[in-house]
Amino acid sequence: MRYILLLGPPGCGKGTQVELLKKEGFKVLITGDILRNEIEKNSLLGERIKRIVNKGELVPDDLIVELMETIIKEDTSSDKDIIIDGYPRTVGQVEGFLKNHSDEKIIAVYLKVDKDILKKRLTGRRVCPVCKRVYHIEYNPPKNDMKCDVCNEPLIIRKDDEPEVIENRLSVYDKQTQPIVELFENKGLLRVIDAQRTISEIFTDIKEILM
Ligand SMILES: [Zn+2]
Repeated sequence: MRYILLLGPPGCGKGTQVELLKKEGFKVLITGDILRNEIEKNSLLGERIKRIVNKGELVPDDLIVELMETIIKEDTSSDKDIIIDGYPRTVGQVEGFLKNHSDEKIIAVYLKVDKDILKKRLTGRRVCPVCKRVYHIEYNPPKNDMKCDVCNEPLIIRKDDEPEVIENRLSVYDKQTQPIVELFENKGLLRVIDAQRTISEIFTDIKEILM
């Protein structure tokens, strides 16, 4: 049993790959979903997290580590590899993770995309305000006139995809993730995947690592 940690900037296509992996029956833990679930369950930890999130503060690393390690332990009953999306995502969380698991069980998979291409991908994104379907002005345009194929509603740009916000998201990601990528690289645990290719090419590479 190994831990496959998925790393990649906004716009690298990680979400799409996670969906494909789930469809093929791989075990994937998605940190965002686990946090939401914990809050909904009103567990002790969930309550603590909710109070922090409601104040608009970042959930501290030790709390994330505590929660994720509990979930991971519940899941280690089988021999199946566990793919993890969104954890560990800070240096503090990596330290917590490494304390709990031995190096030989860890593979960090980094979906690498040039910043200019990320910007182009993210700035071209449009969504339907009604059905939330996602389009791209270049790679996946609607059939007519920037209107949703299903609802015929004019498409909009999400706040998150405004150019200044994108710039900020990418620089936050760089600052947070570059040290993590280097840390795994120095330990010889990093695998880099060129994520500027097609969805299926990237998927093939990920599955090869999982073999
Ligand atoms: Zn629509």
